Amino acid sequence: MSTAETWTIGRLLNWTTEYLESKGSEEARLEAQLMLGHALECPKIQLYARFEEVVDDGKRAKFRELVKQRAAGKPVAYVLGTSEFYSMEFVVTPDVLIPRPETEHLVIETLDLLKGRSTNEPVSILDIGTGSGIIAVTIAKQAPKASVLATDISEKALAVAKQNAEKHSVSERIEFAAGDLFDAVSSGSQFDVIVSNPPYIAQSERTLMDAHVIEHEPHVALFAEEEGIAVLRRILEQAAGYLKSGGWLLLEFSPMVAKRVAKIAEETGFYERISIGKDLAKLDRYLIAKKAA
Ligand code: GLN
Repeated sequence: MSTAETWTIGRLLNWTTEYLESKGSEEARLEAQLMLGHALECPKIQLYARFEEVVDDGKRAKFRELVKQRAAGKPVAYVLGTSEFYSMEFVVTPDVLIPRPETEHLVIETLDLLKGRSTNEPVSILDIGTGSGIIAVTIAKQAPKASVLATDISEKALAVAKQNAEKHSVSERIEFAAGDLFDAVSSGSQFDVIVSNPPYIAQSERTLMDAHVIEHEPHVALFAEEEGIAVLRRILEQAAGYLKSGGWLLLEFSPMVAKRVAKIAEETGFYERISIGKDLAKLDRYLIAKKAA
């Protein structure tokens, strides 16, 4: 093969970017970098310093296999088996939702609430529907006095969450329990904070969604009845029974249901200081409420 046709890192990145663009990827360059970094076991940031380096056949075959899966429509997080959240790397499999940046708001707000406490005071957190464990693990990592109970209806999701707790060395402060919402929590348990990013997409929103999300991500993590609010409603109705007095509830939802969720929170009579937070796109994305005294 002549030099002009040699597959260098640079040429592979350029070719793959164009190829993935032609397959409809909106983040083709980033995805090409992530997959080539993965195949070469090299952080993507270093690829540019190694632009002229020739990639050997074995590594190129490995890369080609990843690109093939991505080009067939599999989300890049499932192709790689990892995704980033809060600048931390998490294991993800098709049994869990791919972390979304919006969910970082729940973590940031929870950490802010904990900051108001004396640093030596232990705090207890309940993460309902932990999925890959991003919320539970990130909070445990950032708040060394926190102990977390993380629940999910899916045993397979919990297995992924456990791996992530180990990966970030917080296993000894996170307990995992399988069950539907509060069924997994022993009665009488009381928490300082309950946080959840539950399934909240209405079946009627299916047609508006990216087809790859519907095809690849777990439906149990995505959809809820009653136009998306069924699970949110159950959490709002039950959470107060598991909160210490003065404890806080944080819930993520779709901007489409924000007003209804706030109204339900109001109507339960269980909460005060109910507020709605916005995501980076300035859309209503989460609720914070304090258990009424
Ligand atoms: N808690 C996980 C997340 O925020 C899973 C959410 C879900 O599966 N609905 O990504």
